[in-house]
Amino acid sequence: MKPVLALVGRPNVGKSTLFNRLTKSRDAIVADFAGLTRDRHYGNGRQGKHEYIVIDTGGFEPDAESGIYKEMAKQTRQAVAEADVVIFVVDARGGLSAQDHDIAKYLRRLGKPCILTANKAEGMKEGHQLVDFYELGLGEVYPISAAHGQGIRDLVDLALAPL
Ligand code: GDP
Ligand code: MG
Repeated sequence: MKPVLALVGRPNVGKSTLFNRLTKSRDAIVADFAGLTRDRHYGNGRQGKHEYIVIDTGGFEPDAESGIYKEMAKQTRQAVAEADVVIFVVDARGGLSAQDHDIAKYLRRLGKPCILTANKAEGMKEGHQLVDFYELGLGEVYPISAAHGQGIRDLVDLALAPL
């Protein structure tokens, strides 16, 4: 069985861009507006001799009550249930949001391996811009740039390490 990595995070943080990086495909729809990926979306990836499956999800609001957001939350919960490792994506430029806190709370309760990645971190000096994300209580924050392909190899190594 190939290990399954699920990408979770609020809309517009770069999950679909990361999906494309991890699968070297253009299957996921990348958009400048929030919430376009409404369903779970699967792709195959490989690094060296290690193969894996990636699931892209729409933006996630764990407590969404109605309509499209409720459906997206359901899809995301299913993706998380199927995953061996969750990659929680936040926006290094946009900073921490209430929605990030909600998602973190959900993931902490879940108790699955979870990697906190701060995307859009290209050209950032490490340090002060990322310290806020430690508040999420999910341990280390890994800066990446999905758009520029930075930190992706290490992220995959880290995600596959315990599997
Ligand atoms: P999703 O809603 O989380 O799936 O986010 P998308 O992958 O659709 O990306 C949302 C926006 O962020 C798009 O305009 C992307 O081009 C942009 N984006 C994604 N990754 C990066 C990155 O590493 N750096 C920067 N600067 N922008 C990015
Ligand atoms: Mg998307």
